Amino acid sequence: MILVLKHGTTRDRVEDLCEQLETRYKIQTNPIYGKEQTIIGLVGDTSRVPEEEAANLDDVERVVKVQEPFKRANRKFHPDNTVLNINGVQVGGEKVVLCAGPCAVEGEAMITEIAASVKASGAALLRGGAFKPRTSPYAFQGLRAEGLHYLKEARDRTGLPVVSEITNPSQIDLFLEYVDVIQVGARNMQNFELLKELGRHKRPILLKRGFSNSINELLMSAEYILSEGNPNVILCERGIRTFETATRNTLDLSAIPVLKQKTHLPVFVDPSHASGAVAYVEPLCLAAIAVGADGLEIEVHNDPKHALSDGPQQLVPEQFDSLVAKARAVAEAVGRSI
Ligand code: PEP
Ligand code: MN
Repeated sequence: MILVLKHGTTRDRVEDLCEQLETRYKIQTNPIYGKEQTIIGLVGDTSRVPEEEAANLDDVERVVKVQEPFKRANRKFHPDNTVLNINGVQVGGEKVVLCAGPCAVEGEAMITEIAASVKASGAALLRGGAFKPRTSPYAFQGLRAEGLHYLKEARDRTGLPVVSEITNPSQIDLFLEYVDVIQVGARNMQNFELLKELGRHKRPILLKRGFSNSINELLMSAEYILSEGNPNVILCERGIRTFETATRNTLDLSAIPVLKQKTHLPVFVDPSHASGAVAYVEPLCLAAIAVGADGLEIEVHNDPKHALSDGPQQLVPEQFDSLVAKARAVAEAVGRSI
């Protein structure tokens, strides 16, 4: 349930009203001071709040019922786009944010070299996996804590905030020390205990869609993080499983406009894991920008032939550089920039 407040309601009165609502109805309140209007989102058991009574409260202009099960992630709760500030990088604003780097951090020289080159091409965030969730237990599992140290070294040298995937709640302290954006991978999208734990900190989370999960399930997973108190969530479409085998997954491009309509959270697209092949990464990047993506997560490796994971889908820095030039043109065509 949302209470739309009358124009000119002061902050003091909004705060008073929230307190009153919380004690009277035993629910939680979420005031949003928007450009156009101030609203209070009610969460919890809102069946305790009689609609008529709420509508008749001083300062309340009208009551809007939210039918969807996701409340805090709902655009009705927060009509303006959420814009995250990640060490000076605005995510969800006018600029399309490029996050690039290798599938996995394989060594210090490798990650610092890739970091410098993707930065020179226009990337604003550096990615690199340290704890790798692999299908096979015999495959390279990542350099783990050592990998995070190297990633931090690359951040210190380039100034690029870093993104890396967490696989277990026991790693949180390590990630809070070394990582600017904590990625929750497709395989952990519904690891609810992990999501709740990540919600108890304010560190930005890049939440990837599970390959068999619906858009609403993705939003409900975001809701787990938001409801614990962490408002800093970026969603990421990374391809879903379908009957099609020509690509590693099927990039659900329609998820982007759907998500942009349903939620105020920034939406990224990962064309690398979606397609699994270098040849498709660039066209999918351009398409993703055209349909409204706020950012792209792209795998870039300096020697993909010898990569320890995901070699076939990783661009070399030169390919990334030429992709960025085209991406800038598409961004401009849809009123954005890189
Ligand atoms: C990744 O980004 O490194 C990754 C494993 O992606 P996903 O969780 O989308 O498969
Ligand atoms: Mn990968």
